[in-house]
Amino acid sequence: LVEVGELKGAAASVDADTRFNGGSLAVRGLSMAYGEHEVLKDVDLTVRPGSVTCVIGPSGSGKSTLLRCLNRLVEVKGGDILLDGDSILGMKPEKLRRRIGMVFQQFNLFPDHTALENVALSLTRIKRMNKDAADRVAKARLAEVGLAGRQHHRPSRLSGGQQQRVAIARALAMEPEVILFDEVTSALDPELVKGVLTLMADLGRRGMTMVIVTHEMGFARRVADQVVFMDEGRVVEAGSPEAIFDRPQSERLKRFLAEVL
Ligand code: ADP
Ligand code: MG
Repeated sequence: LVEVGELKGAAASVDADTRFNGGSLAVRGLSMAYGEHEVLKDVDLTVRPGSVTCVIGPSGSGKSTLLRCLNRLVEVKGGDILLDGDSILGMKPEKLRRRIGMVFQQFNLFPDHTALENVALSLTRIKRMNKDAADRVAKARLAEVGLAGRQHHRPSRLSGGQQQRVAIARALAMEPEVILFDEVTSALDPELVKGVLTLMADLGRRGMTMVIVTHEMGFARRVADQVVFMDEGRVVEAGSPEAIFDRPQSERLKRFLAEVL
């Protein structure tokens, strides 16, 4: 697999061994509604510093909405969200998004900019870095995700897996305390999924705090410190991968696992 090979090259560089200083998250009694439609109901979640939380559950159960609440792409209705002990609800969304990064299913790269520019632009715009410094950081981050040789390519000349790794490099460049991933491998051809999951597992091993919405149950079992099962806007069960996958308690989780495994 070419794309996994690119990552092995990256792992040899110094950057790829640096440890992250991941932050903690605490969600307390969170509720959220789109108009009259209640989408999150009394959600509690504790994410330890440097841990990997995988969120699983059927379509429409509120997984994406939960992630959007965590970096305030949508406003919550009730409850609280603490980042390293401080409520994020009073923080300016622009400031918060430096501290909590997000990677989306559809990459959300700028199509008319190269990989390097895609990473550097958020540094000059959001972190107010000068261009030379931004380019230096962007190059290092692209090397870290195995794309040193692709920095001058536009997204259309990259595979989906490479585009997603540019999006991850862009998130890393902000030096966030937490990164949220929303089904980031769901739009990829099957042979490209592994490279992205390998990269995410590596970030987790290095201490990045991550909340990952995923349908990749094998990944969740291998990499997660905690698995959270959501249904109809609630956390139905949360626990270790072994507890969730081998000893599910609720009928809803048993039914879900029977369908996806
Ligand atoms: P999941 O990611 O688990 O599939 P979502 O968080 O996307 O679930 O959606 C949860 C519920 O909120 C669904 O019923 C969905 O139809 C609804 N929903 C999601 N986004 C919007 C929106 N922008 N406006 C109105 N309803 C929405
Ligand atoms: Mg979703």
